[in-house]
Amino acid sequence: MKRVYLDNNATTKLDPLVKMKMQPFFEELYGNPNSLHQYGMEVRPYLNEAMGYMYDALNAPDPDDILITSCATESNNTVLKGVYFKHILRDPSKNHIITTAVEHPSVLETLHFLEDNGAEITFVDVDENGYVSAERMAAAITDKTVLISMMWANNETGMIFPVEEVAAIAREKGILFHTDAVQAIGKVPVDLTRTPVDYLTFSAHKFHGPKGIGGLYVRKGCELPNLLHGGEQMGGKRAGTLNVAYIIGMGLAMKQSVGHIEKMNSDVRALRDRLEDALALIPETIIVGDRARRTPNTILISVRGIEGEAMLWDLNRAGIAASTGSACASESLEANPVMSAIGEDPELAHTAIRLSLSRFTTSDEIDYTIDVFTRAVERLRAISSTYAYTNEVG
Ligand code: PLP
Repeated sequence: MKRVYLDNNATTKLDPLVKMKMQPFFEELYGNPNSLHQYGMEVRPYLNEAMGYMYDALNAPDPDDILITSCATESNNTVLKGVYFKHILRDPSKNHIITTAVEHPSVLETLHFLEDNGAEITFVDVDENGYVSAERMAAAITDKTVLISMMWANNETGMIFPVEEVAAIAREKGILFHTDAVQAIGKVPVDLTRTPVDYLTFSAHKFHGPKGIGGLYVRKGCELPNLLHGGEQMGGKRAGTLNVAYIIGMGLAMKQSVGHIEKMNSDVRALRDRLEDALALIPETIIVGDRARRTPNTILISVRGIEGEAMLWDLNRAGIAASTGSACASESLEANPVMSAIGEDPELAHTAIRLSLSRFTTSDEIDYTIDVFTRAVERLRAISSTYAYTNEVG
């Protein structure tokens, strides 16, 4: 059966070049880089090279730190709990954190936990396009605000948020600024020399690197207490033996994906737009957010009257992988939380389907998806009208 993967905001395929680069570190180059013998020493230049790729990809000023973590969830927890321990616990008069209502659960749930422990949190709502303006974020600032955490791009809608503007406002007011850039790397230019971000989260498996490895950029002067205590790895800032093969994979994957950003914004965007234009012809569909302000690979579409799960099932039977929401929540058949936050129409939350492409998506796959999706809508609408008729006469 044909297989088409359109769930790249959940995770991506490993770039074959990255896989090749990682291979020796499972076999002959398996030393612990903190060991003083040749096995340890011989892997260090490769680690340095990989770290260099990440600094270059983010244009991070050199003395600043990139902390390697196990995933973006850990990076987000490190920032939010770190700010709580370093600032809020010491000075409760500065206990206010601002975020958006549509962050990933690793931000939202951590902030609810901190709220239960005395922090004051403002969850700023998005508008009907899934967008939140810099003015709306700035209006939430009080003299108690210590941190603003705002994702660079939303995982469900692909909407790109005004991170540069909000970071500048935060800097001017002496407020720390964190961005979860998981969905931005390789899609939106990220330049830490230009944007005054203090903390930035990323995750390798969202840009064709391995799963189970991520990072956190920390600007010089904004250091945080450790989340994991123990060994002296990562300059004593995060304990645990370094995952050498995965760090090397993440470095190359980031270099590769940032190197493909133009392709993403031309070829992949063109495929996405062709798919979107075709699906928009289906009667009673809503596509969330202005596509010029979305990441070039994402569509969140709602087809009135058709449950997201029913649609997902039909697509899956034809070999197409899509999603009804964040993979972290998709085991429960709940309403799409971002659609609920957009809040315009409660039905949207149950009918949303996310299609997310990658630089490996082909034109043939898009043609096939247009055909399958259109036929699935016809089939499911026919079933529901037969059901409605039977109910009426029965
Ligand atoms: N932040 C965003 C915006 C995401 O989309 C995801 C994954 O879906 C995460 C954080 C969590 O990433 P990880 O799987 O690396 O913990």
